[in-house]
Amino acid sequence: MNSAPEAAPARIALVTGASRGIGRAAALALAQAGVHVVALARTQGALEALDDEIRALRPEVETPATLVPCDLTDLPALDRLGEALHRRWGRLDILIGNAGVLGPLSPLHHVEPKQWEAVFAINVTANWRLIRALDPLLRASRAGRVAFITSGAASRAELLAYWGPYAVSKAALDALARTYAAETLNTSAIKVMLVNPGPLRTRMRATAMPGEDPLTLRVPEELAPKLVALTAPEWQETGKLYDFPSDRVMSFSAPA
Ligand code: NAP
Repeated sequence: MNSAPEAAPARIALVTGASRGIGRAAALALAQAGVHVVALARTQGALEALDDEIRALRPEVETPATLVPCDLTDLPALDRLGEALHRRWGRLDILIGNAGVLGPLSPLHHVEPKQWEAVFAINVTANWRLIRALDPLLRASRAGRVAFITSGAASRAELLAYWGPYAVSKAALDALARTYAAETLNTSAIKVMLVNPGPLRTRMRATAMPGEDPLTLRVPEELAPKLVALTAPEWQETGKLYDFPSDRVMSFSAPA
């Protein structure tokens, strides 16, 4: 990343998992809304294709996006990303913690320890390390906004069986986001939301539901404008869940 001082864009967003699916659609929608997108994923070719599309959307801007080819399990790399963003702009306005993996669909007692750890590394630990690395930059923003992409599998009983690592990791992500929302509530302008996309036509969904006709599903491009709205300075809710299938903002309730 270029370390020379440069004029800061009006809004800067880090989107994880920007190479395809929901993250890619979110990155394009944010770029369309005039946000500089820092796009993170492992697949460099897909990030470069995204960069081409963003440049076509914003021909008036010399550098409308920054590519971060990176594996989220490389935790020191996430710290270096925070340092690089600090040197370049001194702030971050939006974090979309979207990248995730499904892991094995099998009974809990069949899951291999390495599979369990791999799901938690990406779905939970990487998001915590991003909070840790980026919190000062989000606080430096006039209106820091964070959205983590969760799943109905975190809470809906009928989705739990055989989805153990994924469901448990998304429940942990929910607690992570709500904790961060509570910690930023009275001490910053940061707002933290969880987003449940519901079933969308992506590679992950096709892997989870191979017998399903993908053409029956909504596409990530339908969710993307909502992600733009949820991370805009005007958004004021925090510590809540936006449920895309019902288009509702929901509060978490204590166990009965
Ligand atoms: P997807 O098409 O499989 O995309 C996943 C993204 O995560 C890819 O960009 C992938 O990029 C990135 N990623 C995975 N492992 C990574 C790693 N180790 N380091 C960096 N990036 C990594 O899935 P999706 O459906 O768009 O899912 C996005 C989010 O929505 C996930 O958190 C998922 O749990 C959630 N969700 C999806 C649905 C649905 O129906 N689609 C429903 C509920 C929740 P690379 O492979 O290039 O690294």
